[in-house]
Amino acid sequence: MAQKVLSATKDSGEHYRQGLGMIASENILSPMVKQAVNSDLHGRYAEGLPFNRYYQGCDDFDTIEDLGISMAKKVFNAPFVNIQSTSGTVSNIATLKALAKPGDDITAVSTADGGHISHARMGAVGLRDLNLHTYPWVEERMEPDIDGACALIQDVKPKVVLIGQSVYLFPTPLEDIAQTAHDVGATVVYDAAHVLGLIAGGVFQDPLREGADVMTGSSHKTFPGPQGGVIISSSEDARFQKRLNNAVFPGTCSSYHLHHVAGKAVALAEFLAHGSSYAQDIVTNAQALAQYLDKFGFEVMAKERGFTQSHQVLTKHGEPDDGSGKIAAKLLEDAGIITNMNMLPGDTKAMHPSGLRLGVQELTRVGMKPNDMKTVAECFQRVLLDDEDPSLVKQDVYDLKSRHQSVQYCFSHTDMRAYS
Ligand SMILES: *Cc1c(COP(=O)(O)O)cnc(C)c1O
Repeated sequence: MAQKVLSATKDSGEHYRQGLGMIASENILSPMVKQAVNSDLHGRYAEGLPFNRYYQGCDDFDTIEDLGISMAKKVFNAPFVNIQSTSGTVSNIATLKALAKPGDDITAVSTADGGHISHARMGAVGLRDLNLHTYPWVEERMEPDIDGACALIQDVKPKVVLIGQSVYLFPTPLEDIAQTAHDVGATVVYDAAHVLGLIAGGVFQDPLREGADVMTGSSHKTFPGPQGGVIISSSEDARFQKRLNNAVFPGTCSSYHLHHVAGKAVALAEFLAHGSSYAQDIVTNAQALAQYLDKFGFEVMAKERGFTQSHQVLTKHGEPDDGSGKIAAKLLEDAGIITNMNMLPGDTKAMHPSGLRLGVQELTRVGMKPNDMKTVAECFQRVLLDDEDPSLVKQDVYDLKSRHQSVQYCFSHTDMRAYS
């Protein structure tokens, strides 16, 4: 059985090595991050904060976490950072624990409009037993109706105003929402899970300067680190900061995966050196992919707004609820292109949507440029519009990918292989 697991593990690496990973929430590790994640730290504990632990044996890890925190403060330009949480969802659970009590009100983006499950009753919001109120939505702009959101906040006077989505094409205009939230005494939380690397690279928006009090995120989507989470705050208030720290440990984590904290610290060091060019290249590639797909005959969402300002592109493959997105995703997989079906405006069935959500952060990481986005778009066209046999297209996908096998935007290492 163990051999079977290990061989499927190897196969997974091989499939991604040969194909195009275009899931918008995924990324690959740099060789140095891999080294940190593969270290002895995976079996250790360090409850507490650097230089203030419950266990002995943490001196080396104190160095690691302390360096990680100081680099994260620089990367995110913030006076407070916690890099312990084990995922974006755990960051949200901890933040809601710190900022609200059961029965309090919260406003957030509905999952139907691209909000994350942790913003919903079925996820972290329900776990904390909060009353959820979702923002009115402007489908053509794929963002909250700002006046309507402000009116809702004024009416409900929530404890927490949560902003951010998983389907995220454009920055959210934050200033009016944050002003209104602060007027009614709410704390503004910006969930940057998907766009953390774009924000850190200065190419999306700057939530902490636009009124957010707290920013949560995943460390493995556009931010190119190991799987994990972060909590960042613009607050200098030591009591507020302590509440956030305590909500992670002991609030939601005991072990907080030290090897991943070390991986985050290495990724932060690499981001300080290469992050802004990585972030810029991601957005350039996303816009190029959208333009080529549009040119080749696909319906790409938000054309009138220039398609995208993030790492994501949304395409529509049929009519609402006809399952055309699911069919498209399967055909693309047969050609070695990994994507996910996604609900678009009008869709009501999560398992039979009409759209695809595409992300270019991983393709960018292995050095693809706008001319490669053209080749990618051609493969989409051949599979989905020209009805070519996906197994024939797969050969060209393989050829393209075989020219992009090493990780970029990181420190050099003896083994630069992107996949294993
Ligand atoms: C992905 C995502 C999360 C959760 O992140 P995980 O690290 O997968 O737990 C939270 N919020 C949003 C908006 C997301 O897209």
